[in-house]
Amino acid sequence: MMTRMEREEIQKIVEQAIQDGKNTLYEGKVASYIPELAKANSSNLGVCIETKEGEIYASGDYSIPFTVQSISKTFSLILALQTAGYEKVFSKIGMEPTGDRFDSILQLELKDWKPFNPMINAGAIVTASCIDLPKGFEEFLRLVRRLCGNDQIWLNENVYRSEKKTGTRNRSIAYLLKSDGVLEGEPEEVLDLYFRMCSIMVTAKDLAHYAMILSNRGEDPVTGEQLVDRDIVRIVKTLMLLCGMYDQSGEYAVKVGLPSKSGVGGGIVAVAPGGMGIGTFGPMLNQKGNSVGGEQILRTLSEKLNLHLFA
Ligand code: GLU
Repeated sequence: MMTRMEREEIQKIVEQAIQDGKNTLYEGKVASYIPELAKANSSNLGVCIETKEGEIYASGDYSIPFTVQSISKTFSLILALQTAGYEKVFSKIGMEPTGDRFDSILQLELKDWKPFNPMINAGAIVTASCIDLPKGFEEFLRLVRRLCGNDQIWLNENVYRSEKKTGTRNRSIAYLLKSDGVLEGEPEEVLDLYFRMCSIMVTAKDLAHYAMILSNRGEDPVTGEQLVDRDIVRIVKTLMLLCGMYDQSGEYAVKVGLPSKSGVGGGIVAVAPGGMGIGTFGPMLNQKGNSVGGEQILRTLSEKLNLHLFA
């Protein structure tokens, strides 16, 4: 088990995980549907592990910033639950996995117009509409900075503008939801918040810290402060396990077995047991939109450190 391992041994496993990840990069492609993301460096790969005891294990490009993209869906769900509450959020969004693409419109007309879960675009757009605060984006950024332990996290204006300009599919989703009364507020305003939330810059190290806090049931182990209610942490981690890796969530759960969320910027945040958090970064994606290198790193770490929830 992890706790009985020496630091050196763990660092060796982290290095091996990076090597395994590198061997898979040729299978991926960087996202290009958001033009600004096509500029990513395809050879980047990094990983960081943080434990509640304050140990850090890292290798590769773990301190290179990238856009958080869909990983923002976990932070926005936390903020929506904190501000609008459970009843309101889940009266508008379900908790069920879909077998469809993350930006699919298909199910919206088939089942009560309610998005299946908050980890797909339709669900996250409705989540954004539940964040009914005068300074929604500023509050979101404040939360992300606290949970990542990094008050330098910033908005990438270029990615935000690129996404806002080309996000026709997300626009279709928002207007469709508006037409059936699921989306409250102005679609363009809600989309603006959604696009901004997707365009903040984080590192694998930031994500490792965030995952460590989630693993520690929302409590900051240094200050003892409860940053997120336990109930909310439970909801978010459960939905990450069920729906966090797009329409590959089932296979990923079998192979890695950790509540995780990926984004098309190349990041994956993974919550390991016992107060351990993992962040990975590698912009080469598979067809489902998951980082190929990141996924391989997590498979190696899960196996060698015996982290799978059901092992
Ligand atoms: N901003 C991206 C979109 O809405 C997020 C997609 C993702 O990371 O899955 O299309």
